[in-house]
Amino acid sequence: MYEGQWPPLVSRAEWLAVQRLLRSPERKTSRSGRAKHLLSMIARCGRCGDTLAVAYRGERSEYLCRTKGCVRIIQRDVDEVAEQVMLAYLARPEVIDTLRAGEQHDDRELSAIRDQLATVRARHDELADAVATGTLSVALAARSEPALLAEIERLEKRENELATPSALRGLIEPGADVARRWASVPMSSRRDIARLLLTPQLIGELRVTPTPLRGRRRVPAEDRILWWRDEQEILPNRSWSAPCPDPT
Ligand SMILES: [Zn+2]
Repeated sequence: MYEGQWPPLVSRAEWLAVQRLLRSPERKTSRSGRAKHLLSMIARCGRCGDTLAVAYRGERSEYLCRTKGCVRIIQRDVDEVAEQVMLAYLARPEVIDTLRAGEQHDDRELSAIRDQLATVRARHDELADAVATGTLSVALAARSEPALLAEIERLEKRENELATPSALRGLIEPGADVARRWASVPMSSRRDIARLLLTPQLIGELRVTPTPLRGRRRVPAEDRILWWRDEQEILPNRSWSAPCPDPT
């Protein structure tokens, strides 16, 4: 898919990483090849957690909470904040180091994690089957299930940590001048990058909160964006967490 754009930069390992990303199950629900908007179906509603879709108000495109319409915000404003945060992340020295670190090791650990994950998921399925057929009591199943679910969660988190750097490597080269390269990356790849980075394990899910009631003043997009990490709200830039003074 990216042939012709990257050939001299892409190693076989990177190519394989892109292929893995393209084949991953979550891609089947999106047609990112045609997507025009950076964060549609990626950013989420800060009130109900659903994804945001693009809606037009006249000429202006906005992100809108998909099912309940809890939030509405100018698309360009959110895209700008998200781009700044993602590019700052990709320019951080420790991120660059991680992304450049030995892929061999990552890949071995990754396939081991995936094997373990398959085993634990199968055990969880068996538990459900055993309860359904009456070979195991509900009470006994309830006692063993939390440990299995915790193990699945731990493995999924590790899988995500390991899979992300190798998937990213094929999409954009991190570094101090990543912002310059971003300009030449096609939208479908930008969306793939956003999908990888805006997760609770990395930068955090981008969630947009409803407009606070502050008279007629427009609240800047960065004041309405939360970065959702492991069930907590995190603001990446301390200055953004200062609330606007209430105009009275
Ligand atoms: Zn909502």
